[in-house]
Amino acid sequence: MKVFLSETDETLEDIAKEIMNCRKCDLWKAKTNYVPGEGSENAEVVFVGEAPGREEDRQGRPFVGNAGKLLNELLSSIGLRREDVFIGNVLKCRPPNNRDPKPEEVEACSPYLIRQLNVIKPDVIVCLGRYSASFIFDLFGIPFRGISRERGEVKKVRAWDKDVFIIPVYHPAAALYKPQLKEVLEEDFKKIGALLRKKKKNPTLSDFGIG
Ligand code: URA
Repeated sequence: MKVFLSETDETLEDIAKEIMNCRKCDLWKAKTNYVPGEGSENAEVVFVGEAPGREEDRQGRPFVGNAGKLLNELLSSIGLRREDVFIGNVLKCRPPNNRDPKPEEVEACSPYLIRQLNVIKPDVIVCLGRYSASFIFDLFGIPFRGISRERGEVKKVRAWDKDVFIIPVYHPAAALYKPQLKEVLEEDFKKIGALLRKKKKNPTLSDFGIG
């Protein structure tokens, strides 16, 4: 992928400014606000969703609707605050009626996310839902077998001269529609919490039953 893993001296603010004028696909026409993403440039963990929904489009901020409320609860269950992490999306504009992103929209918009990752250089990337997971897996050259098979499994890749952990989980919105997924999501967040604690002690994949 074109702009992946490059050294950069740009900032999240530089990228956000560019997003605010973006016309690389047609989604800007129907949007109310661009949603560049928000959080810390020094975040250890980046959460990647699919695309803004109605409330995100209204406020110009990621995960501020009902799915966002659940995400906030999940974050605080593992001792994280929104301002400690970075929360973003593959697409920065809302697809009309929350339809699935089109391949050409992902192609046009995803370089922004890649540039944001290059600025932050996170240790952990949490993929919220199948769209995000399939995009991030592809970016790192990992085969994707579908969200229900991959969720909760930690992958280790090399990026930015260090080990980077990738964890896909169900999308919080899916857990709102299917309450049985909520427990799974809560369990997977416990894994994220455990990974963050163990990472401090230089873990190996076998700590998570992998490899
Ligand atoms: N769903 C997403 O994927 N992203 C958001 O920002 C909100 C809902």
